[in-house]
Amino acid sequence: MAESSTHLHKRLRALADNLWWTWHPEVIGIFTDLDPHLWREVEHNPVAFMNRITPAQVEERAAELVLHSRINYAFRRLNEYVEQPKTWGALHCGNLNNRPVVYFSAEFGLHESLPIYSGGLGILAGDHLKSASDLGIPLIGIGLLYQQGYFSQRLDKDGWQEEDYINLDTATLPLQPVLDSSGQPLIVRVDTRSTPLLARVWQIQVGRIRLMLLDSNIEGNSLEDRELTSRLYGGDTKLRIRQEVLLGIGGARILQGLNIFPGVLHLNEGHSSFAILEEVRRIMEYDGIPFKRAHRRVSLYTVFTTHTPVAAGHDRFAPDLVEDHLGLFRERMGLSHEEFMALGRVNPLDSSETFCMTVLALKSCRRANGVSAIHGTVSRLMWNCLWPSKGEAEVPIGHITNGVHVLSWLAPQMYQLFQTRLGQDWATRMVHPDIWEKVTEIDDGELWETHQSLKMRLIRFVRRRLRIQAERLGMRDMLKQIEHILDPDVLTIGCARRFATYKRGDLILSQLERLTRMLNDTRRPIQIIFAGKAHPRDNEGKELLQRIAKLSYSKQYRTSIVFVENYDYNVARHLVQGVDVWLNTPRRPLEACGTSGQKVVLNGGLNLSVLDGWWNEAYDGHNGFAIGHGGMHNDLAVQNARDAEYLYETLEKEVIPLYYQRDISGIPSLWVKRMKHAMQSLGWRFIADRMVKDYAERFYLPAAMATSAETGMLG
Ligand SMILES: *Cc1c(COP(=O)(O)O)cnc(C)c1O
Repeated sequence: MAESSTHLHKRLRALADNLWWTWHPEVIGIFTDLDPHLWREVEHNPVAFMNRITPAQVEERAAELVLHSRINYAFRRLNEYVEQPKTWGALHCGNLNNRPVVYFSAEFGLHESLPIYSGGLGILAGDHLKSASDLGIPLIGIGLLYQQGYFSQRLDKDGWQEEDYINLDTATLPLQPVLDSSGQPLIVRVDTRSTPLLARVWQIQVGRIRLMLLDSNIEGNSLEDRELTSRLYGGDTKLRIRQEVLLGIGGARILQGLNIFPGVLHLNEGHSSFAILEEVRRIMEYDGIPFKRAHRRVSLYTVFTTHTPVAAGHDRFAPDLVEDHLGLFRERMGLSHEEFMALGRVNPLDSSETFCMTVLALKSCRRANGVSAIHGTVSRLMWNCLWPSKGEAEVPIGHITNGVHVLSWLAPQMYQLFQTRLGQDWATRMVHPDIWEKVTEIDDGELWETHQSLKMRLIRFVRRRLRIQAERLGMRDMLKQIEHILDPDVLTIGCARRFATYKRGDLILSQLERLTRMLNDTRRPIQIIFAGKAHPRDNEGKELLQRIAKLSYSKQYRTSIVFVENYDYNVARHLVQGVDVWLNTPRRPLEACGTSGQKVVLNGGLNLSVLDGWWNEAYDGHNGFAIGHGGMHNDLAVQNARDAEYLYETLEKEVIPLYYQRDISGIPSLWVKRMKHAMQSLGWRFIADRMVKDYAERFYLPAAMATSAETGMLG
């Protein structure tokens, strides 16, 4: 008994220690069944869960619930997954085996229990790792371990956003210390003109992929630097450049400490661009070649993905900041201050220009891309200045449209339905359009019922969250009405995004009377669920959020407009799985891609969006709804007014009538037809497996080839 109980406990630990569980609901089901109360208390964190449950308790609960075979089966599946030799990557990416892709990102969104992400960029990086794992592509992730993550959002009585910073307890995270060749914890060091920067390194296993995270909270650092990695996107530009020095240069030094030579450097956004220069320095010293040759060589295997369609969104650092933090590094490479600054300047001779991380990356990579077709175009226009002799269309920035990791975002109920209707192997073949053709064979009633049960689950989740919020704020009226908030038979619109002004989260409120008529229509009403954070220093964003929050508190709107606090992975998962319609109203062309709408499609929701980002290439007239025709206007007020008008018209004339047009069994069959058409036309395209394959085929393999040819290291 004692032996078998530690055995089960150990297997559960092994499951908890690999984030593979995050996309395998059957494992989550085991933890939930073992102790639903504890699972909720630890906020879906299996490491914390296992710390709190003894082997004897596991054995007892497992025996009561006959969980042995489920635990053993999950454990076996994990091992088979990790050891599976016949992956797509094994077949196609053999030349990356000894020299992997190294993927740098300032944030990684893998699960709510690991809050080292703020939004879309991080979620994308997390999805990239998971798909690289599923495909078996040799890849290593590098990022920062933020002690306090981004922030938790709490609204006050006036609907104003408050931020809480909570210290992570590393004992409750699936972290392993990374050791050097002598078995000691690996420490990386970067010298600056002020204090040296030190960091230790943690490793997280994401399926087959290793993610290494730098942590500056160690002895040897100044007190200030110990807090360097405490918050994501907090602090001033000095903190920011030190974080980026640590991420880029420190990150590349992890590889050196472990004798890993990158076949490809993939920089997810410019925060990590200094990694390029550290590679250059290493090669200069190792091969004894001058800067220019080493820089050229590194550019052959560097891939850069830009995400920011506004010039002001790119990190820029003043010359003295650069000199303070990279002066010693630059001297080691034998560059003058002006030569170094030139690497980050559009015009190398303009000494008034600051150092731009995106410019450094674009000047140092052979392969660069935006994250949707329209964003590719915007980026070529924005960076034409770097290639003044080329026409806009010849600027060497292409695009690979983002996609989402299907198994992370698909509701388990929908997964089951796909298993039975699309074939047991659909999940390993989902980049093939023919798999999704079979969606037509799903019975309308079955699909609708599955969707309705997910909507009910969402509504229960929202009510639970609102109850907690109302209790905290002492909103008695709200508490009395909780069970009347949201109605599963009403057309439910979800709108969750970062509250940045360009995203126009309040566009739907711009004609409030007209909206109110739709909310209160007795025959064909609608209801809206909002969520999202504003950046702590973005007061405009906070005011926008406040306006929505205030409506949601008011007697008149509280049952039909709700605001769910603390938008994170968990809130997003519930929303994208349960809404009827996903609303997206960015100011064109400022949405680089957007991925939340892609998560919605998989679960049977329909997009209602401005033709921007991914939707601009996805919408075919029948797989969702478009707001407007893709027009733009220089006068923002005019563009806003027009888009609002289009939004209301589309709702009134298309969305609402279609939703409430029912057949005799109460099913909106034309709506269901659109749900199916959305899955069919988009399910294989806007997913991370397709995206990562595109990166592999178009970028990683050619880049790795070029380096092996260059350095004579073929094979
Ligand atoms: C998917 C996701 C995002 C990105 O969505 P957008 O479409 O870019 O707004 C942001 N935050 C969370 C929590 C997500 O899950």
